[in-house]
Parts: sequence; structure tokens; C-alpha cells
Amino acid sequence: MANESNIEKKKVVFSALKPTGDLTIGNYIGALKNMVEMSKEYDCYYAVADLHSLTVDNVPADLRKRTYDFMAFFIAIGLDPEKSTLFVQSHVPAHSELAWTLNCYTQYGEAKRMTQFKDKSQKAPENVNVGLFAYPTLMAADILLYQADLVPIGKDQKQHLELARTIAERFNNKYSPTFVVPDGMFPKTGAKIYSLLDPTAKMGKTDDNANGTVFLLDDPDTVMRKFKRAVTDSDTVVKFSADKPGISNLLTIYSTFGGVSIAEAEKQFEGVDYATFKTRVGEAVVEYFRPIRKTYSELIADKGYLESIMKAGAEKASRTAYKTIAKVYRKIGLVPPVR
Ligand code: AMP
Repeated sequence: MANESNIEKKKVVFSALKPTGDLTIGNYIGALKNMVEMSKEYDCYYAVADLHSLTVDNVPADLRKRTYDFMAFFIAIGLDPEKSTLFVQSHVPAHSELAWTLNCYTQYGEAKRMTQFKDKSQKAPENVNVGLFAYPTLMAADILLYQADLVPIGKDQKQHLELARTIAERFNNKYSPTFVVPDGMFPKTGAKIYSLLDPTAKMGKTDDNANGTVFLLDDPDTVMRKFKRAVTDSDTVVKFSADKPGISNLLTIYSTFGGVSIAEAEKQFEGVDYATFKTRVGEAVVEYFRPIRKTYSELIADKGYLESIMKAGAEKASRTAYKTIAKVYRKIGLVPPVR
């Protein structure tokens, strides 16, 4: 008979997305698609990082709506709530609890060196809040609570992950092994997607010009309109090249969502005018997301179901998280609460 200890334990993955803007096709290629792939192999904890989003100014109703939207998209893109732990960060108070504790094991100088803090405080000098400063320790808590082995990250989060590792090692050395020291994982994600109106800038959730960004929530007509207005160049050849950023971006998008290589795409569009090419790229995106949109629409209309997923996810996450909290509190001399 299978004995639990004989079953090889799957590696634990933690990842979270901040609901600071609506999800884009860039998020899909750079993060969401890979989350589905990882869920086939690993024990995945995926959170809507609503607490992290508080470091910037939010319209409360938008934040609330996006939290539901993100959860619905998690499921619509193919994540199975029975297999992966899908939850909302603030529903597991252990995140805030461990973050506070870790603040006390992180030096001011270490947090001050974080380049993201420096960049963000320069970009928004009117709102350099303490939360922005303590962002990396909340992120460390997110990861360490679940004893994550692997954390998929982009280059911009590398320094934060290093800090999480430093804090974990410091704690383990001071007391005794408590935290798994997580490794960054730089997944082979899809290509970087650029704005349709400024193909030298990354397509982002919070771009000033929403016409350059394709959101997962956009209806097919909006998607088509955005692609038809996409910036190209004064040439007439559909070719991937550094001096043709607009056309190259569209080729990348077509290749990703149309399921062909860039070379094949170039061949398909030989002698085809830009207007037709842009229409075809738009159609490929619309078709790719058609089933996802359908499932999303059904889910978002059923808040009760989404809340049941959030509840089950938070309960499952809490079981793991509070085991870690209990260990930490015991080691540092806090009397763990009786739960
Ligand atoms: P953000 O929306 O900037 O918080 O990023 C969340 C995740 O989506 C990160 O893993 C990013 O690397 C990924 N991502 C965001 N925008 C893009 C983009 N335009 N192209 C590729 N990946 C992206």
C-alpha cells in the first residue's frame, strides 16, 4: 500500500499577481501561461496579491472588482482549484503577521538598497509610504510561509528574492532550520510584448494610453480596433527586424497566439499589406482568447462560486502558513496562539 512517506513530495512554487491594473496579453504570455504549465508539475500556491497593491493609490471599487477578475481568470486560463491553491493574499492574515516579524529581522540599510524602492519613490514622490519600503519583507513572507522551493520571477524581482533568501538564511542560522531557502526560477516565458502604440515600451497594466494595451477583458471589437490602429512603419514588408519594432511586435504576438514560428508567420504574410496583416493578428488574439473569455464571463457572473474557491484556497493556504507561523513564533519566544 502506498505510504505517504514513499510518495515523492512535489516541489512547492509560490507566485502572486498584483491587482493594480487589468490583466493584459503581456501578463498572459509573461506569467499566467507559465503558471498553468508549472501547475502540472509542482505544488503551486497562487495568490492575488491585494496587500501588495496597497502601496499605490487604488480606487477601492476597482481593487475589489479586479480581485474577483483575477480569480476568475486564474480558473479560465486552465488552473484547477483542486490541484493548485488559489487564494487572495489578505484572506490569509499570516502574510501580514510574518511580514511584521521579518521586518524585525531585516536591516534598514538592506531595505533601503532595493532598486525598486528607489525607482518607485522617484516616480511617485508624493506617495513614498512605509508599505512601499517594506514591500520586499511582505514578499519574503509570501514565499517563506509556504516553504516554497521555487519562485518564478522576472529580472525586476531578482533583488527582492535575494533579500528573501538572506532573511531566511539569517533566521535559520540564528535559531535552527525553519525556512526553506527559495530559489528563483527564470521560466522560459513567452516573448516580451510591447505597446501597440509605442513598440519600444513594454505593454503594461497601467499604461497611460489604454489603446496600446490589449486587456484580457477587452471584447473582440475592442481587440480588433486596437490592432487596426497599431503603429507600424513607412515600409511595406512584414519582417522581424530591430529597425521595425512595431511589425516585429505584431509578428511576436501573431506567432504566440497563432501557434506558428516567426519565420512561418513572415512567410504567410509575404506580399500582404499592413492593414490586412494587422487584422489577421487581431483575429488570432480574439480566437485564442474566445474560450477563456467565455469561461471568464460565466465565472464572473457567479460570485458565490468564486467566493467558494477563495474560501477553500484561503483555508488550504492557511493550514500551511500557520504551521510556519507556529514554528517561527515558538523559536523567537512568542507564545503561539491556541488555534
Ligand atoms: P506586472 O503586470 O508588471 O505586475 O507583471 C506581472 C507579470 O507579468 C510579470 O511576471 C511580468 O514579467 C509579466 N508581464 C507584464 N507585462 C508583460 C509584457 N508586456 N510582456 C511580457 N510579460 C509581461
